[in-house]
Amino acid sequence: MAQINVPVVRNILQANERLAAENRRKFDDAGIFVINLMSSPGAGKTSLLEKTIEALSGRIGIAVIEGDIQSSYDAERIQKKGVQAVQINTDGGCHLDGNMIQIALDALDLANVDLLIIENVGNLVCPAEFNLGEHEKIMILSVTEGDDKPLKYPLMFQICSVLLVNKIDLLPYVDCDMAKVRERIGQLNAKGRILEVSCKTGEGFAPWLSWIEEKVAGHKKLRAGKH
Ligand code: MG
Ligand code: ZN
Repeated sequence: MAQINVPVVRNILQANERLAAENRRKFDDAGIFVINLMSSPGAGKTSLLEKTIEALSGRIGIAVIEGDIQSSYDAERIQKKGVQAVQINTDGGCHLDGNMIQIALDALDLANVDLLIIENVGNLVCPAEFNLGEHEKIMILSVTEGDDKPLKYPLMFQICSVLLVNKIDLLPYVDCDMAKVRERIGQLNAKGRILEVSCKTGEGFAPWLSWIEEKVAGHKKLRAGKH
């Protein structure tokens, strides 16, 4: 089989890895736990953030970086919840990269931040390849997308440590077999945790929130050990 090398793409990814590593050092020095949140457009990333912030903002310092092709609509939604939010517009670009995160970080005051959530551009393809310096990659699959997404976009399902299946309140009305979703994700990613949630009703949020709280506490301890 003919194989075609694409050095340009490889170089871009290598340069991005360097920037991501710089970001990671910054996060670790500050003791901030960082999530890269990914999904298709409309799966519920911003809604998940709103609900998560409502539940945790009294106890945990939260900041958000919003990635979108255009508009600052999502950052405004997050700011209404009383936390810092910076909007990155990629101007047509279909993923965030390490450099964009460095620029966004300059606009954030990280002093009292324990948790930084980066909402990536809605896309199941290249966000999976661009590390941002995050500690964990999280993805949301909406039941309205059907149960075949893991077959079509395997890399995204392989790299995430938590896979949130959202809009489970709609399960009676859509063709999405949860047994198939679990089986297909399990075949790609045996260690990934699958959590069924509804951002609309709040169902299933308890394990998600405690997962975040445990991670944040762990990273705070790392900071305490350093200083
Ligand atoms: Mg959004
Ligand atoms: Zn892209």
